[in-house]
Amino acid sequence: MIRRIDLRGADPASVDYRASVPRAEFDVEAATHQVQPIIDAVRARGVEAITELSARFDGVDSDEIAVPREAITAALETLDPAVRAGLEESIRRLRITSAAELEHDVTTELAPGAVVTHRKVPIDRVGLYVPGGLAPLVSSVVMNVVPAQVAGVRSIALSSPPQKNSGGLPEPTILAACALLGVDEVYAVGGAQAIAMFAHGAGPCERVDLVTGPGNVYVAAAKRLLRGVVGIDSEAGPTEIAILADDSADAAFVAADLISQAEHDPMAGSVLVTDSLALADAVEAELDKQVFATRHTERIRTALDGRQSGIVLVDDMDQGVEVVNAYAAEHLEIHTADAQAHAARIRNAGAVFIGPWAPVSVGDYCAGSNHVLPTAGCACHSSGLSVRAFTRSMHVVDYSQAALAEVADHVVALAEAEDLPGHGQAVTVRFDASRTETRAE
Ligand code: NAD
Repeated sequence: MIRRIDLRGADPASVDYRASVPRAEFDVEAATHQVQPIIDAVRARGVEAITELSARFDGVDSDEIAVPREAITAALETLDPAVRAGLEESIRRLRITSAAELEHDVTTELAPGAVVTHRKVPIDRVGLYVPGGLAPLVSSVVMNVVPAQVAGVRSIALSSPPQKNSGGLPEPTILAACALLGVDEVYAVGGAQAIAMFAHGAGPCERVDLVTGPGNVYVAAAKRLLRGVVGIDSEAGPTEIAILADDSADAAFVAADLISQAEHDPMAGSVLVTDSLALADAVEAELDKQVFATRHTERIRTALDGRQSGIVLVDDMDQGVEVVNAYAAEHLEIHTADAQAHAARIRNAGAVFIGPWAPVSVGDYCAGSNHVLPTAGCACHSSGLSVRAFTRSMHVVDYSQAALAEVADHVVALAEAEDLPGHGQAVTVRFDASRTETRAE
């Protein structure tokens, strides 16, 4: 049974809302101890180590990690037309939002001849991870690849766990999605070993500059350990949903949405924050009814009954907004009479879904938003995946002689203040009259 946490009457000055709301015990730190040897092995022995790890964790026996191009093309030929249509719409919508979100160069002329440009450049080569342990997350192919392509990334590699029942290749739907998007560098490697392969390079896979994509605790631990060797997006681990709802909410919708995220993983967290006891009771009754009508009843029950899920009772929506801001959920749905106004007060969430007609499921597949989002409270400092993750920026400084002369004294003064006179000299040498005369001769 989903547990209840009663925060009514709690004094925000003495109660830590973030710690009070249930959350998955997603111990990335503990997993790093298991993952470090995996990274070391891949770094030292490349494909040989990956092959052993795939046998151990995925039950697959193959020393080929690169998926043949013919297998990628063939997967598209046998793709269910309804799935293909869904993927095409998902791609179309995400391309539109990604193109609109692409940032452009900003050029500023600070004085005549003093020009600074903030130039946007795509990352050269990226490694995209697509989970395939509990569910073949074909949608994660779209969520990773589309923003990378729109950003103009030159070289894209993608990896997903090898599957026993697919001859050691990733799930055919994942390969078909790669074909639809024109991605032909695909690896059948899962978990931490895939992240290590991207970071250090192994066999046919050259090292990448940035790794993105969701995954389980081992994927998150590998990203944490390899950050710096390679760029990473956020730690996008086991999924979580928070729903802020008042008595205007439809209990059947709320329950269905709590279930939809619990379906991902026994570690998934589903949290309802409400000021209505009647709604809490109705949602609980709906959960009992709906959970047994789903395909993955056991996984969902484990997630809903786990310490990471619960119904949090609050005094009113003002307290509810504070609680969900403190929790910083990966997904936040708002089912209140004044949903737009409450949404405007949200500061911390991976993505926000307003009202009864914007369930997380539409965001998971084809809202036009991205479903790779920060979990475990990281939404208070990290953003979801977007075209911005695949670009970096650099300042380009273009000063004329006159423009440099205008700030020369300031440079010299500041260099002296830092006891770095060579910095000042690098400017004054350019205006040394005797030197200019010598050069003229
Ligand atoms: P996965 O592909 O992330 O992990 C499978 C791999 O884990 C296997 O290939 C194996 O190599 C490795 N592994 C399994 N047991 C191991 C062990 N004991 N030690 C070391 N490695 C081991 O797939 P998954 O397990 O289904 O997890 C996917 C996760 O992604 C779910 O938790 C889901 O909630 C999450 N997700 C998050 C987001 C997000 O944006 N936050 C989006 C989609 C999915």
